[in-house]
Amino acid sequence: MKAHHQNNCPILATHEKYNEAVYFLFKTMEAYHSPEEFRFNLNAFIQAFRNITFMLQSESVKPSNFERWYSQKQLEMSGDKLMRAFVVARNVIVKQSMLATRSTIRAGLFRGRDMKMAIQLEISPFTPTLCVLGQCIRTMVGTFVDEKHSDIGEQLGVERKWVVEEVGDEEIVGLTIKGMEYIGNLLSEAHALYDFEYEPQDFSSVDMKKMMVFLESDVDPDLPKKWGW
Ligand SMILES: [Zn+2]
Repeated sequence: MKAHHQNNCPILATHEKYNEAVYFLFKTMEAYHSPEEFRFNLNAFIQAFRNITFMLQSESVKPSNFERWYSQKQLEMSGDKLMRAFVVARNVIVKQSMLATRSTIRAGLFRGRDMKMAIQLEISPFTPTLCVLGQCIRTMVGTFVDEKHSDIGEQLGVERKWVVEEVGDEEIVGLTIKGMEYIGNLLSEAHALYDFEYEPQDFSSVDMKKMMVFLESDVDPDLPKKWGW
């Protein structure tokens, strides 16, 4: 098999669409605590994700065994609950409707990013996590934690979890990663049909806890120093 570079990719349009999906997935993760930005990036991800297979089908040069391989893949994808759910979600977006997103919050005391004590709240999907954390600081300093934060490593924080009903009951970024792993393998197989070796994006280093937990020191990184930690 031939080594793959960006300038010899046999399915460049498809591959670019895959890279676009990766890009928007990372943007979605970065915006986890800013609801509007989160939704915009997630919508862009879902559309790019759907377009990967559209692009693949319309590549102009196809090896002779392509159609047989792809019809097998189509059958497999239509039997896959998650892949079907992404198609539904994409159709909701392009019909200019909004996805049914839900946000749950657990707010309280954290050691590092591990939750020690928290209360659970259903909040509006439009509320930025920063507002919830501000509320926590106003009500929990003095009970959950002393003002000086004298227990080193312990501070207030908020764990947020996004669920998109059309895609599934589990946390959405985890589901998008599963979807991307599936499509990454498909992309790799597609390259192999053209006799190219391609390793898809590795998502194993994504730190879900770092993404979902928003701490006082994320707002102001100088706080630990001020607390004398
Ligand atoms: Zn490629």
